[in-house]
Amino acid sequence: MIPFFDFSEVHRELGQSLTATFEEVMSRGHLIMGRELEAFEDEFAQYCGSKYCIGVGNGLDALALSLRARGIGPGDEVIVPSQTFIATWLAVSMVGATPIPVEIDASTYTLDPLRIEEKLSPRTAAIIPVHLYGLPANMSAIRQLADTNKLFVLEDAAQSHGAMYGDKRCGALGDAAAFSFYPTKNLGAMGDGGAVVTDDRTLADKIRMLRNYGSSVKYVHETVGVNTRLDELQAAFLRKKLPLLDDWNAKRAAIAKRYSEALASLDELVLPTIPTGRTHVFHLYVIRSKHRRALAQRLQDRGVSTAVHYPIPPHLQAAFSGLGYVKGSLPVAEAASEESLSLPMWPHMPFEFVDAVAHYVQQFFAKA
Ligand SMILES: *Cc1c(COP(=O)(O)O)cnc(C)c1O
Repeated sequence: MIPFFDFSEVHRELGQSLTATFEEVMSRGHLIMGRELEAFEDEFAQYCGSKYCIGVGNGLDALALSLRARGIGPGDEVIVPSQTFIATWLAVSMVGATPIPVEIDASTYTLDPLRIEEKLSPRTAAIIPVHLYGLPANMSAIRQLADTNKLFVLEDAAQSHGAMYGDKRCGALGDAAAFSFYPTKNLGAMGDGGAVVTDDRTLADKIRMLRNYGSSVKYVHETVGVNTRLDELQAAFLRKKLPLLDDWNAKRAAIAKRYSEALASLDELVLPTIPTGRTHVFHLYVIRSKHRRALAQRLQDRGVSTAVHYPIPPHLQAAFSGLGYVKGSLPVAEAASEESLSLPMWPHMPFEFVDAVAHYVQQFFAKA
């Protein structure tokens, strides 16, 4: 049996260190907004190549608070990719603004910069490029459009911790970036967690206030804030994992390379592409096939678990029915949702597993 994802090797590698971390934080007895959070914020900002990092409760809040701190709200429009995890769109709705979908590029699954301009209006306030599956979006084209039209660029970097675009990391490519530390992300906590990184001091100060009841001095509340914080335990666990992130990403890339070499000869498949000047950190290894359903079933019959990211694009979700999109509105996203299949991927996945999965995929097409 080959699972889709497996934590056990990371926990073997780090288990004792994480247990010691737990005991240390517990004995200190300071569990919210303490020195572990401050230290993690410094270390993660430095890792990303940004000036400031603000830890929050999850990736969705990191996105929403960034928009809110920038003053984006009712009446504003925000450009989002047509295919992404629902949180990208939800963050826009959370602040009362309207998500305006732009089709993804069919080979990189990220915002197609050529299709942004036709969706801009006098109400457009921001663009949220998503570095989907771990590949940075086309940020130079997006930056240029944003500068021309004075738009805020918020990276959704929830799947791309450590990925490079030129000589910069995700997180340092927009005006601000939102990260998630959900356990299965490339950098994951032992529960929920998230962060915003930015070089903008004013924005950072606002988010820091918003995440903590709208307060920077205890019991003095300057604005109607929320409670969404990265707790000491999660920050401490993340500090233990951050030094291993580059190694884990390299392992993911090696697995992806092995998959891609083994599957290269299958014309029926579309494999992940990596445009020059970018690195892909393979949060997910996603292939495309017209025979997705049958292929997934065959792999399941052979004991291989796969997943679909994402089977229903945001515009066809009941949650967004009020926006008025129907089947056919965004064909590139719809095709991706019908044809994508994510193969098993985790940093310590043995090469024998990779070879076995690739073998079953080859067998499927040999007989088809
Ligand atoms: C995981 C994810 C989020 C949300 O992060 P949470 O921590 O789960 O709230 C946002 N955007 C993308 C692309 C994600 O994959």
